[in-house]
Amino acid sequence: MAAVAAAFPSGHHVSSPPNPKTNPSCLFYPAFLKAPSKGLSIPSNPLQPCRLPPHLTAAAAADSPNDSSFTSFDLLSDKPREECGVVGIIGDNDAAYLCSVALHALQHRGQEGAGIVSSHRPNDGGRASLRTVTGLGLVSHVFQDKSKLDYLSGSAAIGHVRYSTAGAASSLANVQPFLAGYRFGQLAVAHNGNLVNYSSLRARLEDSGSIFNTSSDTEVILHLIANSSSRPLISRIVEACESLQGAYSLVFLTENKLFAVRDSHGFRPLVLGRLRRPSGGIVFASESCALDLIEADYEREINPGEVVVVDGRDMSVTSLCLMPPKPRKACIFEHIYFALPNSIVFGRQVYSSRYSFGATLARESPADADVVIPVPDSGFYAALGYASESGIPFQQGLIRSHYVGRTFIQPEQNIRDLAVRLKLAPVKGILEGKSVVVVDDSIVRGTTSSKIVALIKDAGAREVHMRIASPPIIGSCYYGVDTPRSEELISNRMNVEGVKRAIGCDSLAFLSLESLRGLLGEEAPTFCDACFSGNYPVPPIENEVIRMEAVE
Ligand code: SF4
Repeated sequence: MAAVAAAFPSGHHVSSPPNPKTNPSCLFYPAFLKAPSKGLSIPSNPLQPCRLPPHLTAAAAADSPNDSSFTSFDLLSDKPREECGVVGIIGDNDAAYLCSVALHALQHRGQEGAGIVSSHRPNDGGRASLRTVTGLGLVSHVFQDKSKLDYLSGSAAIGHVRYSTAGAASSLANVQPFLAGYRFGQLAVAHNGNLVNYSSLRARLEDSGSIFNTSSDTEVILHLIANSSSRPLISRIVEACESLQGAYSLVFLTENKLFAVRDSHGFRPLVLGRLRRPSGGIVFASESCALDLIEADYEREINPGEVVVVDGRDMSVTSLCLMPPKPRKACIFEHIYFALPNSIVFGRQVYSSRYSFGATLARESPADADVVIPVPDSGFYAALGYASESGIPFQQGLIRSHYVGRTFIQPEQNIRDLAVRLKLAPVKGILEGKSVVVVDDSIVRGTTSSKIVALIKDAGAREVHMRIASPPIIGSCYYGVDTPRSEELISNRMNVEGVKRAIGCDSLAFLSLESLRGLLGEEAPTFCDACFSGNYPVPPIENEVIRMEAVE
């Protein structure tokens, strides 16, 4: 077997993407990577304590907005949540600083915590080591103290923004990147996705003596790598990934190398770019918007099942197929809601996708109305498409407050009822006496939709016609998106007429699944739409899928 590899020490050139369809030499498990165990002595707990100096650790903890003396809640909680964004940069002496800027661009993918690990090499040319800073809250909060970025010196770094499920959000231990030490050095990892076989993997590892520091599925990846008897590291990573089921876009950092890995279905995005600076440093990021912000050129997606290795010593780039290819199943929700509209995700411009979803919705479900308004911000681009196609004027009938923030410290429980009003303000002059089309990207539980309808009616709208630029969500996601249990999803409990009555609008229509697939064209089978169709590409073996009967 031969690896598909390319080394370009002079020009920092990135190898061509291995395409299993067109490149038959794209082989798997290169034999040379497998080596007999050298009698590794793997620590039972590979996670190392944070190397942040005590004064910085204390500052990060004290400043946390998630201090337990507060209770916060999400103002627009009725949306699925992306669970993380990752970035990796190598070949530039400002790697950590650029990482922090790139993480700002990815902030919409996770607001609970942020962190960066850098590879620091002492001025005397001594051995490099990994340094880490993590904290709870937004990127601007975690890295507001410049000394933290100064501490993260070095020419390679990885970063992470995290969204967590309730209960684990306040745990600093769960904030990535995770840093581990094993017999052959240090390893840091940042993960976007979700492992459907996490529980069984963790149980197996605990049975064999592993001790876990966190409740994150990402930690099992480090344990699997530490416990592997293969060499070199890339072989350990491949062997670990062999055990993983579900969604993972990963970046790993060692003292000298940066790795980017994407699961063989390619559920979550991961792109490769190059800095326009003289350094020509290489960047991996969840979305291309992160490349734009740090003035890096988009080169390509990391292919499903691909691992790319960049060696910081000569900037050689090696690309390997991680595992035998499986059908790509890219998350269509990235185009419906998660990704920023200025991003290119799975090779498509997100803005164009949303616009066409709205335009198709207008043809499929017209409404006799005076004005089209979006639910800001996520319904904005679909509403533009709907207005353009229908010829109904587009207006901003709801103004979003950008000063309240995503969450709000609640002094009283009953302030929850004011949550939507804190975030969205109706424009009476636009709405009064009008028949209004309201375009949103999705409906999850229906709780926020009903409040928005009431808000618009209270402002004097004569009729409210809800148009949703995605199909009804009938199932939970098990691949890295936090959705409620299936029985909490309003479209799993009711048909469209039932949902219309529940949220109190005059008419309701969703983009049909057929139209969504039609818009994706030939690529439709390469997208996951399980939360709309119930067709799960990887069975959620450790989670029960409950389908309720539709009711009138
Ligand atoms: Fe995306 Fe839905 Fe598939 Fe999850 S189930 S990966 S949210 S399309």
